[in-house]
This record gives sequence, structure tokens and C-alpha cells, in this order.
Amino acid sequence: MDYEKLAQLLFPHMDKLPEGYEAMYPERNLPEGAKVTRLGPSPTGFIHLGNLYGAFVDERLAHQSQGVFYLRIEDTDDKRYVEGAVETVIDSLKFFGISFDEGATKDGDIGSYGDYTQSRRGEIYQCFAKKLVSEGKAYPCFLTEEEIAEIRVSQEAEKKTPGIYGEFAKCRDMPFEDVENALAEGRTYVLRLKSGGKDAVRDENGKEIVEAKKISIEDGIRGRLTMPENFMDTVILKATGMPTYHFAHVVDDHLMRTTHVIRGAEWLSSLPTHVELFEKMGWELPVYCHTAQLMKLDENGNKRKLSKREDPELALTYYRRQGYHPSAVREYLLTILNSNFEEWRMENPKASVDEFKFTTEKMSSSGALFDLNKLNDISKDVLLKISAEELYEFLKDWAYEFAPEFSDMFEDKAYMVKILDLGRKEGKPRKDLIYGVQIMNFVSYFFDNHFKVEDKIPAEVSEEDAGQILSKYIESYNHGDDQSQWFDKIREIAISMGYAAKPKDFKKHPDEYKGHVGHVSTVIRISLTGRSQSPDIWEIQQILGEDAVRRRLR
Ligand code: GLU
Repeated sequence: MDYEKLAQLLFPHMDKLPEGYEAMYPERNLPEGAKVTRLGPSPTGFIHLGNLYGAFVDERLAHQSQGVFYLRIEDTDDKRYVEGAVETVIDSLKFFGISFDEGATKDGDIGSYGDYTQSRRGEIYQCFAKKLVSEGKAYPCFLTEEEIAEIRVSQEAEKKTPGIYGEFAKCRDMPFEDVENALAEGRTYVLRLKSGGKDAVRDENGKEIVEAKKISIEDGIRGRLTMPENFMDTVILKATGMPTYHFAHVVDDHLMRTTHVIRGAEWLSSLPTHVELFEKMGWELPVYCHTAQLMKLDENGNKRKLSKREDPELALTYYRRQGYHPSAVREYLLTILNSNFEEWRMENPKASVDEFKFTTEKMSSSGALFDLNKLNDISKDVLLKISAEELYEFLKDWAYEFAPEFSDMFEDKAYMVKILDLGRKEGKPRKDLIYGVQIMNFVSYFFDNHFKVEDKIPAEVSEEDAGQILSKYIESYNHGDDQSQWFDKIREIAISMGYAAKPKDFKKHPDEYKGHVGHVSTVIRISLTGRSQSPDIWEIQQILGEDAVRRRLR
């Protein structure tokens, strides 16, 4: 077979040469050890935590090594394309602190290894596909869907591996004239890799009697992997002429001079195909790093994969709507990304996360456990490091975009800043603030429009006593009292009404008292905040101001 002639027949107009592209996209001139990574999202409109998780790895590896991190839009599957999805990807990642050095942006490409959108790279894929055909490493396959289904039925009956390979690859050795005729008849075809691999030898029950040959690759996260070689004649160009993921990724990562391919574990099973493709192209393999699946514990304590359908927290939009601060999400992701991060954080409580030396070796390969409670715990600590002023700006932007029902709370900046700073300055600061929605609800009582009485007065205090406590409190109230003067007055009210001055006195002699000073102050607390639990009442009063305090008490 004259493969040159076949290549010419299939790609008559392709006059570009592989050497031309190689010269156009030369090896990058980077310092020794610099890593080139990329994020290759498909514009489906859904961007999830797994994307962000992978993007962090990409970003850290590149930027820790003075390398390059670029964005490539993988849009060859037009069925999945959603309008505006590219902008969503870029905006969401930017929000979480992921910045690219190169690649697709909202205003076009940056960098000299583009085009960075696969649907605009058609010629490049065709050029390299033509090269494979001319070397007898790829061929047109005219099998129809029905024929493929029939092949599958016979394979099932014979207990053979389903797929197009070996003897089932009916078009592998199609004579040139037949290809010519098929094309003349207008029959559609896909281009398949002519795999050099072989399936295991199986007996009539499908049991392996001679194993398939193995390949061995060093995964950046998982270490040495030994897998059966590929033997499928995988489709590399679809009937539309568009490449499949397998082919596009190989061509792009080579020409864009990617050194590390970080991607989800769902790609592990096609790794042997990619290894064969790189080999057939005669190119050096990048370092593959297959990240762990994001898992969570279900109600019964079993680990399961996070799912788009069941787990709203898988979508990145979840964190934005809830008003999580990006630094909290970033810090949390690092704890699940690298097993030694938490220890580092304990030793370096003040350091910027970017000072942490991230390594793929410290990544889990068996499934990263995602836990919202843990994120919340981390968020409490992270928010403590952000000034109230900065937090105000962040929450205001968030509320305007995602929670307009709270936007009135940002009208008086000085007031809100004081509220956000409440109890955060002490040696052991309060950790009340977690994320937007929670924070707004937590501080809502400071605003008349949002104030509501949520809790009941303690059982130890009668209705009548409650009224009396409040009148006595208003009477004695002096906004200028310091904290201890203020509390002395509450204690006096308690004693005068038959409540113990100290909780422990009441505990020892429950018969001698109606309740204790805590119950009395709870009545005041509820009247001021609507809740039985809150930060320090004296401080709340100072922020609310005298008028508001008196109004509420009345
Ligand atoms: N487009 C692929 C995806 O969205 C990217 C996989 C890769 O990074 O190679 O899953």
C-alpha cells in the first residue's frame, strides 16, 4: 500500500508540513526545571471543584518553578458547548486566585503557542493526522454504526473484548481503490489509529491465557504505573474532521510544549492510548499526573464520589453564592491536596499560602476526601486574618451580586466594619464568621429591617419577671458605663429579684433561687439581639448606640 498516496487522497488540500509547526512552536526558553502546565476545560458551562482542584496543582507547579501555566479551551465536542461558558471558566478561576500566564482570555489569546482554542486548530490536527496516514499509522474507517454494533454482538458471543482492533478492524487494510470508491460514493469515515498492540490471548470463556504486553509509566502523583498496552484502533479524527480528545491532547500538549499534564483520574484508563499516540508521533511523553477523585463521606460514613446530581457543593458557583472567601477555599483545597500542608500551616500560621512548597509526591492518589465542615473550620481561621475593612468590601460585592436581600446592610460602612470586627481583637478571638450567607444571618440583629426575635426567654424566668428585668435595666442603663460597671448593675438586678449572683450558687442550692444572673442577662440579650446566644452584650450595645439600645429594650 502506498500510504503517501492514501494521505494525499484523504487530505488533498493540506499543504502544511509538520516541520513547519515544529518550527513555529519551538521548545520554550525557560529556566532549568521550569514546568509548563495547562488547564483544558471543556466549555460545558459547569465548572466544578475538581476543575479548581486540578487548576491549583497546575498553577502551583508552574509558578513554583518559574514555568508557564496556560488556558486551553477544549471545545471539539460541539454537543457539549454552552454559550458564555468560556467566560464563566475564566471568571470563576480568577475569582479563586487562579491566574494564567498564557492562553485564551476574554479578549483573545495571549502567548505564541496558540491558537489556544481547539476548534480553531483544525488545520494543525489535519496536518499531523495526514502524517500518521502517510506513515501507515492511521487509516480511514468506513464502518457504519450498525456494522460496529454487529461486531460487538459477535464479540460478546465469543467472549472477546469489545471494540475495533485486530481482526475486527475491517478497514485496516482496505485497498486504495476501495477507499477511493468509498469516498466517491460520499461515504463518511473516521480516522483510526492503527494500533501496534495486541489484546491478551483468551480461551473460549474469555479468560486470559496469555497476558497482554504491559507498559510502564511514571505518574507524577501515583508513582510507577504498569498497565496493559493499548490495542484499540482508537478514533483520532471524527467524521466531522474534528479530533477526539485523545488526538487533540497529544498534538496540543506537544506543540504547546507542556511538560506536565495534570488531569482527573477518569483519564487513567486511556493513558495507554495516549502513550501509543505519543510514540507513533515520535514525540517525548509529558509527565502525567492523575489527580485523585474528590470523595465525600455519605450519611452512613461510606466514601463516595462527589456527584453533580447529588452534591450542590461540587459546583464552584455554590461557593460564590454562599459567599465563601476565595482565600478560605484556596487554603482548604491545599489541605486536601497535600498531606503535609496542615502541619506546615501550624508551624507557619502567618505565612502566605504561596510560600508553601507544593509537591505532587505528597498528593493522595486514592481519593481526596472533601468535607464542608472542615472547609468551614478553615474559613473561620482564614477570615480572622482578613481585616474587617477588607471583609466589608468582599461581602458588599458578594451581596450586591448574589444576595441583594442583604445589600442594605452595607449602607453605613463604619457601622458594618465595627460589627464585623466584634470580638475579633482579643487574644482568643471569636470565630463566628464563616461565609457570606452565614455571616449576614449572624449579624442581622444589628439592623432593624432584619431583626427578629428568634429565641424564647429561659424557663427559669417568668413573663412577669422578664418585664421587670427589662424595666429595671432601662432605668439603670448608662451608655457610658464600662464593662464591669455594666455587669455589676445586672448582678444587682438579679439579686434584688431572687436570682443567684453566680451560676454555681444556683447549682448548689437550686431551691433558694429562681435562677441565676445568666438567666437574667439572657432576657436582656434576647431583647437586644433576638437570640439567647451572641457575642458580648456590652460590646453589642456600644455598636448599636444608645438610641437603638433603649428602643429595643422598650
Ligand atoms: N477537556 C478535558 C476535560 O474537560 C481536559 C482533560 C485534560 O486536562 O487533559 O475533562
